[in-house]
Amino acid sequence: MENKCSAISTEMQDPDPLGSEVVDEPPPISESLSESQYLAPRTDIKLTSIGRIPLSARSSEFLRDFFPNATPADWSNWHWQIRNSIYTREQIQRIIALTGDESLAMMQHRSGVPLRITPYYASLLDRDNPTQALRRSVVPVMDEYLVSPSEAADPLGEEDQSPVPGLVHRYPDRVLFLTTGFCSTYCRYCTRSRIVGNNHRFRGSISQWQKAIAYIEATPEVRDVLISGGDPLTLPDTQLEYLLSSIARIPHVEMVRIGTKVPAVLPQRITPKLLRILKKFRPLWMSIHFTHPDELTPETAAACNLLADAGIPLGSQTVLLKGINDNVETLKSLYHGLLKIRVRPYYLYQCDPILGSSHFRTSVEKGLEMIEGLRGHTTGYAVPQYVIDAPGGGGKIPLLPDYFQGREHGDVKLRNYEGRLFRYPDLQPASL
Ligand code: SF4
Repeated sequence: MENKCSAISTEMQDPDPLGSEVVDEPPPISESLSESQYLAPRTDIKLTSIGRIPLSARSSEFLRDFFPNATPADWSNWHWQIRNSIYTREQIQRIIALTGDESLAMMQHRSGVPLRITPYYASLLDRDNPTQALRRSVVPVMDEYLVSPSEAADPLGEEDQSPVPGLVHRYPDRVLFLTTGFCSTYCRYCTRSRIVGNNHRFRGSISQWQKAIAYIEATPEVRDVLISGGDPLTLPDTQLEYLLSSIARIPHVEMVRIGTKVPAVLPQRITPKLLRILKKFRPLWMSIHFTHPDELTPETAAACNLLADAGIPLGSQTVLLKGINDNVETLKSLYHGLLKIRVRPYYLYQCDPILGSSHFRTSVEKGLEMIEGLRGHTTGYAVPQYVIDAPGGGGKIPLLPDYFQGREHGDVKLRNYEGRLFRYPDLQPASL
């Protein structure tokens, strides 16, 4: 890595990551698997894998340059990653050459999404290019302070649909369970920017969880619980297991989903112990937030493969972001990469109009252009559903290019992926 900077102390104080909540043991470090057990042979993975997540050449170099007092075992310990996360301007400027705009944005930061990046994810940032996709998604800029008309702190109206704190009941048969406001790495475009990293607005607690669990128990229509946050996989194992067991014993709950970005930003969290816990609960699905193909590292591939091996169906969620992933080739590369690690592209979201999001938001036509460029041009499994989460709490609304071209002489007129027109001899509603 060029322009090496001074090392970052591993003794860095963490202001409030998990605090005393980090109680479970670090992941075991003695179980090594050969590289071929993770994914097809790669030359950029060191065979000195620690635990079950490999140490890539990139991580190894970054560790040596910026945390010379830490060991590969430290790096592979998710608690170490959280405790040594980057959360100040002084820390981040040792790793990347901050622009004046980025630097000013951090100096002026008062509220909103804080800065936090795991050392692992920081290793993926481009030191010299402020337009790099991953850097833009986690490093603040002054545009965050420009609020456009119709942007809102809670654009999806989640708080109006919250019967008890930390639970959103929008659709009749499912609920969103907000477990924590903490994430190991904060995305600048976060839909829940009003609560993430903000202990004053939201701090999940066991007593709050119990109220949410009681609500689910008393609401027999709820058959599906989405555990989200913040990032629920940053919870200690003991708390996560308590939550999953409390929900799983409710007779009318048929399935549980976990929404997380951990495999992309903190793959070291996917420990054998966590996998043993998750495997106990069936059916358990997982939606993983991915932004860009640069996130598909050997470590993330290993994490996803381990989750898939544990029998957890994996889907991806991606927010369409201007200048970050809003072109077909980038998304195609992301989706092809995800399929290779057994993650099915699930949702492509139009960026929600949170406060200060205009520099991230594309037009809806851009989203339709993405689907037009994917559908028919690649494997159907690689094409997610493009949705707008309707402001005001209307729920997800799917959008498709105009493949349906109307009716003529009883036929339905259809346009295919090449723009050619076809007719389908549909039954008229009257003759059905
Ligand atoms: S990981 Fe999810 S909840 Fe956390 S900051 Fe990113 S988008 Fe928000």
